[in-house]
Amino acid sequence: MLREHDPKELRLSKQGTTALSDIMNTNNILPVNNYKFGTDEREKRIFGKVFEDSIFEQKYPDGCFAGCNLACTKACENYQLLTGPFKGKTVAVDGPEYETAAAVTNLGIFDIPSILEYAWYCDEYAMDTVYAAKGYVSNSIPTDETLQRLGFEDKEFFQIVKAARQRVAG
Ligand code: SF4
Repeated sequence: MLREHDPKELRLSKQGTTALSDIMNTNNILPVNNYKFGTDEREKRIFGKVFEDSIFEQKYPDGCFAGCNLACTKACENYQLLTGPFKGKTVAVDGPEYETAAAVTNLGIFDIPSILEYAWYCDEYAMDTVYAAKGYVSNSIPTDETLQRLGFEDKEFFQIVKAARQRVAG
């Protein structure tokens, strides 16, 4: 059923969750300028179709697991960074997902390189793209207290998050 309908409807298997930006924009619920607006005509610059045609290379399996028919977890496999300390380096950008793109439109920015840079740098510094855009905490990496409050218990996980905090703090 998914194989039959998705190509004619959302196209998640080709556009990943970037397909959702178009729907959100059409329905006036795309975050724009810190939620001031729900739609913007510049959204056409970041249409899911643009990601499908020129960003996602589709060379490798793109699902969470081999049997997923949608395989919506896309990637930009060869992107040359334009900014920051890794400028000029060719990297693989995981996604971006709709939430990452929407975090950038919420900053009033509607261009694909900015979305890719934001996605890659957040991943590189172990930052959550949504939390980073909202500025919940200075480096967006949760404290031990927050993790405990959320019910995390695994000691190894706490060590990983601690290492990420230290890395971001330099
Ligand atoms: S299992 Fe993963 S790849 Fe498949 S639809 Fe869900 S999020 Fe997408």
